[in-house]
Amino acid sequence: KQDNLQRWASVRPVTRSGHAVQIAANLGSVKEIDAARRAGAMGVGLFRSELLFSEHRRPLTEQEQFETYDAVARAFDDHPVIIRTLDIGGDKSVPGIDIPPEGNPFLGWRGIRLCLDRPDLFKPQLRALLRAAVNRNLKIMLPMISEASEIHRTRALIDECRRELAAEAIAHDRPATGIMIETPASVLLAEELAKEVDFFSIGTNDLTQYIMAADRLNPCVAALSRPENPAVFKAIAMTCAAAMARGIPISVCGEAASSPPIIAKLLSFGIRSLSMSPSSILRIKQFVSEEAGL
Ligand code: PEP
Ligand code: MG
Repeated sequence: KQDNLQRWASVRPVTRSGHAVQIAANLGSVKEIDAARRAGAMGVGLFRSELLFSEHRRPLTEQEQFETYDAVARAFDDHPVIIRTLDIGGDKSVPGIDIPPEGNPFLGWRGIRLCLDRPDLFKPQLRALLRAAVNRNLKIMLPMISEASEIHRTRALIDECRRELAAEAIAHDRPATGIMIETPASVLLAEELAKEVDFFSIGTNDLTQYIMAADRLNPCVAALSRPENPAVFKAIAMTCAAAMARGIPISVCGEAASSPPIIAKLLSFGIRSLSMSPSSILRIKQFVSEEAGL
């Protein structure tokens, strides 16, 4: 079966009625680059940088991060590579980054919230990203956005990093910056947020958990935590409409992006870019090309 699927690696999928669809990879380590390339990933839609820190069991230095992000961007030629800034907290911890015990970690100090309070952690990452963007198709993505001020404060930090790098005569660029849509607030504010950023990517794992108020890790509420819930589809449709009205690209990078019945629905909303684990890429390239309808 895998041999038959392998022929899809070089294919850039087009649906039967002619819509080109980008199939990109979700990665959390440079070790996964080869598998993604073998499957013909059209870039990286989500690089979970916090997993890099977990793998090394400590925060990486600016230079180590620069080398890693540069290596990932280099591996995918001209395809876009989206690096998500640290999404620590919730279910993800990193040795060396202390988070005080919380009653509700998924509603707590996680993602952009933690990073904005910890510039000692956030600025080295932003500096590494600005440096790695030189001559590469690299983009920055911010997790867990729930209000515009988080984007404004991040932009101020990016500007600060650019001034520092310029003063130190270190080569850097200004990468496109987008946000994850994974909180109900970001869906409700999608029209306003679309004016502030270069792209959206819908994180259906967290979006489902927060829309349905059902812990994504708790098996007792697994029946509710399904992205095919009509409430989740409605949120995705609203987000697509806001992105399209503003003319910014939108993709889906949660697990739902590799589920055939959900993909058919996403395509009907106008989604033309999906990002998934490397092991799903060949199968989904085939599905989109031959079966997805549309
Ligand atoms: C998501 O929430 O859908 C997502 C892609 O991010 P993560 O699974 O890393 O929270
Ligand atoms: Mg998430």
